[in-house]
Amino acid sequence: MPDVSPLNPSNFVYLDNNATTACLPEVVEAMAPYWQSVYGNAASTHYAGRCAYRALEAVRVAVADILRVKPYQLFFNSGATEGNNWIFNAYAGSKNERKRIVVSSVEHKSVLDAAKALEPYGYEIVVLPVSQGGVVSLEVAQQMITPEAGLVSVQLANNETGVIHPIRELVDLTHAVGAFFHCDAVQGLGKMAFSLEDLGVDSAVFSGHKIHAPKGVGLFYLRGGAARFPWVLPLHGGGQEQGIRPGTVNVAGVVGLGKAFGLLPDETELGRLQRLQNRLENDICLRIPGCRVHGQSTLRLPNTTNVSIPSIPSDILMANLPLFCVGEGSACNSGSLDSSYVLKAMGVPADEARCSIRVSTSTLTTELEIEAFLNQLCAKYKELKR
Ligand code: PMP
Repeated sequence: MPDVSPLNPSNFVYLDNNATTACLPEVVEAMAPYWQSVYGNAASTHYAGRCAYRALEAVRVAVADILRVKPYQLFFNSGATEGNNWIFNAYAGSKNERKRIVVSSVEHKSVLDAAKALEPYGYEIVVLPVSQGGVVSLEVAQQMITPEAGLVSVQLANNETGVIHPIRELVDLTHAVGAFFHCDAVQGLGKMAFSLEDLGVDSAVFSGHKIHAPKGVGLFYLRGGAARFPWVLPLHGGGQEQGIRPGTVNVAGVVGLGKAFGLLPDETELGRLQRLQNRLENDICLRIPGCRVHGQSTLRLPNTTNVSIPSIPSDILMANLPLFCVGEGSACNSGSLDSSYVLKAMGVPADEARCSIRVSTSTLTTELEIEAFLNQLCAKYKELKR
């Protein structure tokens, strides 16, 4: 049996919530019965199965209510990587005449690479540039979303910078040419007010572990439900989730997801995060000359700050702040030595991009933690600069 005992979790400050979040105690508590008591397969027709099924459907109804959509539009899956791949594979598998697929240059790799994987099959992948502020330009989008386009995919908010894209306008351009709009909405959930209905997207994905639910559970939204989905279904199996996501459903995970949806930050909490962000950014800019907050003048999530610290590469900085967990580039691309492709797309020079860190807060982040981080960061900066 491998040793899986955790390192001491009480002595670090966690500021990497765009990578993942801690499960809230209420979430863990809600899930507990579903490991050992209500463990039936939700597809089984006996009593244990029906108990699991009831829980699943109760969560679907509750989450639909919170998102102000209909339960038939929601499907449980393992998370956004699966959901993003799913939509591209569904598109490729259908005999669609339209070969143009449009994505933004700052999409998560699970969109960018899923799209690019279709190139050898005759699909043309058109990449929408972003402005210096990190936002998709509507003018360019208008030229690129042509009647040849069949699928357009743009994220609600960026995981590295927190920049929010004009989804409603992009949906209008997409629908004007009769194409399908997919939205990776992972980072927007719980950090900004939005309505899927008002945005008008045809599909969207969410991941539980970004909102204090467990890893490995997610949500897939289809505006037309399963019945009106226009393309072939890419996964095959036992027909669960109306065939959209076959495979035995992770009932405990779904219950945790449902609980986490019920605990999403309200306006007051978003205001608190905004104040923490202002404090962090003002202080860094005052105390570290020449630093730059990426996307600062653009509409951004209140929990995300991506800042470059002049001439100190982020790996060196972070090695000197070992008990502060912040993002260097994107954790989703960890292992890569390249500087961030998102910052590159915004025109940030590679040297500067290598000196950038991402601080992402959550409802569990306290002002004291931000203060401790600021003090340590500024002290280490002075030391390293010398
Ligand atoms: N899209 C975005 C914008 C993300 O930030 C992430 C997670 N970093 C994903 C997709 C992938 O989510 P998951 O790892 O839960 O599949």
